[in-house]
Amino acid sequence: MRIDAFLRTVLQDCRSDSRIATIPYSSSGMELKSLIREIPDFPKPGIVFRDITTLLRDSEGLRYAIDTMAEKCAEWQPDYIIGMESRGFIFGAPLAYKLDAGFVPVRKPGKLPAAVHAIEYDLEYGTDKLEIHQDALPPQSRVLIVDDVIATGGTAAATAKLVEQTNCQLVGFGFIIELTFLEGRKLLPEVPIATLVEY
Ligand code: AMP
Repeated sequence: MRIDAFLRTVLQDCRSDSRIATIPYSSSGMELKSLIREIPDFPKPGIVFRDITTLLRDSEGLRYAIDTMAEKCAEWQPDYIIGMESRGFIFGAPLAYKLDAGFVPVRKPGKLPAAVHAIEYDLEYGTDKLEIHQDALPPQSRVLIVDDVIATGGTAAATAKLVEQTNCQLVGFGFIIELTFLEGRKLLPEVPIATLVEY
C-alpha cells in the first residue's frame, strides 16, 4: 500500500474508533479557570481558596479536566494513581480508570483499616500525618501522585516520601491547579509534573 493510502486508512480508523475521544470542550486553560470559583479569606483571612466544586459539577469541564490530565500523564505509564484525602480521590480515581491503572488512597491517620506506612510533615502551625496501606503497591510499580491543588508542596512531598517507603518508582505528579507563587514544586523530587491551571 502506498504511504498516502496507508495514512488515509489510519486516519479513517482513528475517526471511527470510539476509544479515541474527541474532547467536546474547546476549553483552554483560561476557560477551565472560569469554572474554578475564588473564595477570598477562606479558610482564614488572606487565603484565596480555589474551589473546584464548581468545576466538578460542570460535566464538560470535569470531562475536559480528566481527559487532558490523562493525555499529559499517559506517556509515564503509571501502574497506580495515588490520590490524597480528600480531593485527590475525586480526580485520582477517574484518572486511574482512564489510564487503565489502579487507584490507591493516601489518608489522614486512623482511617485505613490494615497495616500502614505513615509520614509526619510540617504545616504552617504544627504537623500533620498521612498513611498508606503497606500492601497497596507491589514493589517496583510505577506510581503517579495526583491532587487537586499544589500550594506549598508539603502534602505532595510527604506523599512522595510515603511512596519511597514502598520501594516503588515515582513517575510523576498531576495537579489540576498549581499556585506557582508558592513555589511548591521546589519541595518535590525531580520527576515530571503535569498541571492544568496556574495562578
Ligand atoms: P500544600 O500541602 O500546601 O501544597 O497544600 C495542598 C493541599 O491543600 C491540597 O490538597 C489542597 O486541596 C489544599 N489547598 C491549599 N491551598 C489551597 C487553596 N488556596 N485553594 C484550595 N485548596 C488549597
